[in-house]
Amino acid sequence: MMKRKHKFGCTGAVVIAVCLAAAAIAVMKLTDIGAFARIKTEISLIVDPIDEANVSSKDDDWQLILINADNPLPDDFSVELTTLANGHKIDSRVYPYLQQMFDDARSQGIMPAISSSYRTRDEQQSELDQKKEEFIHQGYSPAAALEAAKTWAALPGTSEHQAGLAVDITGADASVQSPDIVWNWLKSNAHKYGFIRRYPPDKVGITGINNEPWHFRYVGKAAAEEIYKRGLCLEEYLKIIRRTPSASR
Ligand SMILES: [Zn+2]
Repeated sequence: MMKRKHKFGCTGAVVIAVCLAAAAIAVMKLTDIGAFARIKTEISLIVDPIDEANVSSKDDDWQLILINADNPLPDDFSVELTTLANGHKIDSRVYPYLQQMFDDARSQGIMPAISSSYRTRDEQQSELDQKKEEFIHQGYSPAAALEAAKTWAALPGTSEHQAGLAVDITGADASVQSPDIVWNWLKSNAHKYGFIRRYPPDKVGITGINNEPWHFRYVGKAAAEEIYKRGLCLEEYLKIIRRTPSASR
């Protein structure tokens, strides 16, 4: 009886081991499929040709400048600004497109308002300091508060607001129209005017900035159309169009 039980125990162990091995293989296969899918996505992004007319030339570089934590603005950066009636400032070359977007939105019953636009280096520093304070009030240590603040406000020199190319847009009157309605309209229409929703929720891992439905960045109409159509973020788009042929590496 004991012997039989023991034997059954052994058989049970073998069955379990076989099951575990099968499960491990299944997991490996799933992982492989995942990896393959990722590779396939990357390749399709690379080989799928971008319309020649949409590829930027040197003349477009000002509007495709990448500004993020790893790519600060050059120290000698300067920009010609246009001051709007509400006191907000924007790159003069962008102004007509912003105005057109607002005019068209309003004609469709949307009530947008600019809540932030061009910021100087000092204003950007204040923005970051303010965010940091908010986290300190929530009980964060100063170091942790700074790290948390950086996911909401960029370090001076690394904000698109400092380039005059970005605007934060909200609703003109939340008691009449929810900002969500404004953001949804912009999400579907901003590309027609050369703007992109710069920090979408599904790209936080790449941009390093939390979902900001209000932050719109001017990149030019051709780039904005491609970015919108393909569901890219600016970092991904620039990687595709600025790929260098391997021979010239
Ligand atoms: Zn912003």
